[in-house]
Amino acid sequence: MLQKTIILICDKLLFWRYAKHFERHNLLKLGLDIEEIVGGDKKSIAKALNLLEEKGDLAHKRNEKLIDILSRKARPERHIVGITGPPGVGKSSLTAQLIREYRLRGKTVGIIAVDPSSRKSGGALLGDRSRISHDFEDEGLFIRSMATGSHMGGLAWRTRHCLTVFEAVYNIIIIETVGVGQSETEVSQVADTVAFIVQPGSGDILQFMKAGIMEIPHVLVVNKADQKTLAAKAASDLMVTKEYSESELKGWKLNVVMTSALEGWGQKELADVLEGHRNFLNDVGMLEEFRHRNRTEWVISLFRERFGEFGLEILGGEERVRNLIAQEDSNNSMRRLQLLEKKLMGQILSESKLKV
Ligand code: GDP
Repeated sequence: MLQKTIILICDKLLFWRYAKHFERHNLLKLGLDIEEIVGGDKKSIAKALNLLEEKGDLAHKRNEKLIDILSRKARPERHIVGITGPPGVGKSSLTAQLIREYRLRGKTVGIIAVDPSSRKSGGALLGDRSRISHDFEDEGLFIRSMATGSHMGGLAWRTRHCLTVFEAVYNIIIIETVGVGQSETEVSQVADTVAFIVQPGSGDILQFMKAGIMEIPHVLVVNKADQKTLAAKAASDLMVTKEYSESELKGWKLNVVMTSALEGWGQKELADVLEGHRNFLNDVGMLEEFRHRNRTEWVISLFRERFGEFGLEILGGEERVRNLIAQEDSNNSMRRLQLLEKKLMGQILSESKLKV
């Protein structure tokens, strides 16, 4: 009996050793070393990001594997923060301050700077993005700027790929995006914590409240609070909007934080509040639930992007698709999407056969 157990254990150990080796070998063929990526080697990370952006059937198959391996390496302590708000409120400046704060705390940071408005400016704003001032030599920091192009959903697709890499590498991941309606919804589908930034005296607050966007953030920030009187007014306006949002937040008390990215204060408190929200989600057991739900919603939005409402209807509507995804025993969003595609094709084929 003891002999049998020992043989079984050795067998398993050999299998895992071989599986690990095989996985590594496969990636090495692509010129990628998973240990280097996870260890934060910037060249390897950039290479992985570039590979994940390639399109076509072959690339999809390879990326599915890569995403699978990376998803299993996700750091348990990671925190994904969305920074959003209208153009010009100081998101890039504040992100730069947050980077400094997190680095002082010894955390590694990955930044995804998304520019959904580049379709209007022909990429001019992307240049803007690189204004997140930072230390280029810092090995614990990686900034990825991306323009999402003209079609909706581009944000979701590329952000999620980049995120999968960053989740395996960095303690803190910040997704910074311009608040233009759709992007708020999309960022809330990938971030654990969303901070909405406003500036004093701009009227943004009322406008965004009307658009229902106030339901999304977990933290409200009045940046440019060096403009003291106007900032105090903005903060009291935001206090009113709190009532609208709190019912959505399942017990989390919405905070209003005042910052001045220009003078360099408030970022410490902001980092504390952001961390507080992550701890809250974790303590009430919602962090994984939240992430799981976000991954599902992301697959649905990608499916909708590819096949439209029509595709969803063929599979029995959004709710049914949600259930189909829930039945799949996989955390790999690419694989889940492909399974849905297969189901859709199967459904279309069987319907056309019925008609014949
Ligand atoms: P974004 O478009 O939201 O990323 O905003 P930016 O970070 O590019 O900032 C827009 C402008 O606001 C720049 O001229 C900044 O120097 C300025 N700015 C950013 N933060 C502050 C702040 O805290 N106080 C003041 N007075 N100006 C700021």
